[in-house]
Amino acid sequence: MADYQLVTGGALSDAASGETFESIDPSDGTPFATVAKAGVEDVQRATEAARKAFDEGPWPRMRGRDRAKALLAVADGIKKHAEELTELEARDSGGTIRKSQRADIAMAISTFRTLAELAGREDDEEPLPRSAISYNYVRREPIGVCAAITPWNFPLQMAAWKIAPAIAAGNTVILKPASYTPISSIELGTICLEAGIPEGVVNVLPGPGGEAGEALVTSPLVDKVTFTGSTEVGVRIMQLAAGTVKKLTLELGGKSPSIVLDDADLDYAVEGVLWGVFFHQGQVCSAGTRLFLQRGLEDAFLPALTEKAAALKVGPALDPASQMGPVISAGQLETVERYVELGVKEGAEVAAGGQRVTVEGHEGGYYHAPTILTGVDNSMTVAQEEIFGPVLSVIPFDDDQEAVRLANDSMYGLAGAVWSGTVPRAVKIAEALRTGTVWINDYHMINPRYPFGGYKRSGVGREHGSIGFNEYREVKHIHVDLAGERKNHPWWDTLLG
Ligand code: NDP
Repeated sequence: MADYQLVTGGALSDAASGETFESIDPSDGTPFATVAKAGVEDVQRATEAARKAFDEGPWPRMRGRDRAKALLAVADGIKKHAEELTELEARDSGGTIRKSQRADIAMAISTFRTLAELAGREDDEEPLPRSAISYNYVRREPIGVCAAITPWNFPLQMAAWKIAPAIAAGNTVILKPASYTPISSIELGTICLEAGIPEGVVNVLPGPGGEAGEALVTSPLVDKVTFTGSTEVGVRIMQLAAGTVKKLTLELGGKSPSIVLDDADLDYAVEGVLWGVFFHQGQVCSAGTRLFLQRGLEDAFLPALTEKAAALKVGPALDPASQMGPVISAGQLETVERYVELGVKEGAEVAAGGQRVTVEGHEGGYYHAPTILTGVDNSMTVAQEEIFGPVLSVIPFDDDQEAVRLANDSMYGLAGAVWSGTVPRAVKIAEALRTGTVWINDYHMINPRYPFGGYKRSGVGREHGSIGFNEYREVKHIHVDLAGERKNHPWWDTLLG
């Protein structure tokens, strides 16, 4: 079994306690790597290294174009290690090898490249409108030490989404990956060192959320927390970070609507809805888990949808034929089962799937069939709570106003989609949805150039693009006196004159 260490202060090391934990391959339920387990002492060491790198090191003081070169070197490093990273990511997270290759590695590379471009613009100074007695401008400066806490569904992408903008803006960062999936984040930390990012700028600390995570969030040495994960933990982090008034970016849960209108290209929408909900076994914060289907489309839509869902090939992550892999853990598999049972108890019918899948030769893996529940009312638990598994709830609606009302009837507001053949109609609905992203005739098209994040309890702030980049920069107003003589100043008349 391979051993993985912490990345702190520019070097790899064991945890101060010497403790380790095992990372499990969800495709067969067996451990495949041993990982150093960071505790409070390691957090102290890493935050001190990150603080020193920020307060005294070259990184925050470098020109944006020089930081950009280093980010491009990280992107090249990911590309160079693409083959091994693809396999590690698939094994550690249970995401299919197809997803790893085409989504995770590619997105990690393009995130570093996009942030290199943003850093290279050096748009950190901006003049303000003229005043009679002063020249004023705004400077955007790095915030300081950032703590990044990531989930297990897209470990490499999430690490890239957080490390790239943080360091592009001149911050230093300590990444705490999810305990289920630490490997690719450690690899990315090592690639950053190989790419010449100075010591202490990028640190990676795998360790338990309740201990290492909370120590980071409460550390007086940390200035900003950026978190992706459950709304429950997001609330806890917001409370803990309040003690030291940290800046926060939170990307939390979702229960996103996929709205199919009666003028949609139905064959296309069937495939789009399946992609929206079953990509990565439904373990995607923006998954389209609530299908709003216009009344009258049932016969033309549902048989094709259920037939295609049932035909999706569920199998081990490393098998190139697998279209869906396992869910992350035995616990997550039980959660999915519990929600399906609850849906049935509340009156839903199972139109496809509904049970575990046993994969020959991988009997210890955590597989669940793609599941479609019909007869769902939007007020049911399965339509309101985030399941984070391959479960779609189908809910009928009569007209566009009702579709909007039902779609917005959720505590979440991360994303959604409208499937329609009439662009103005779809745009009207998209503009009425209370979500951070709406795709029209598409799904999951997340791009490091476009902002992504949530309304309501789906989060605070945005990731990606220049909007996301600015979440990692402070705004400073500088006032340069041009009046010269004291008598020309208002303060001379009002107080001192
Ligand atoms: P969590 O929200 O618990 O975990 C996300 C990250 O937060 C992990 O790195 C975790 O560490 C860390 N963490 C946990 N508790 C704390 C804490 N008190 N302080 C600081 N950091 C902490 O997600 P789970 O893995 O438990 O998944 C539970 C549910 O959350 C899922 O079923 C799903 O509904 C939702 N979820 C949503 C995601 C999204 O992208 N919106 C992603 C993942 C989950 P550790 O791994 O060590 O516990």
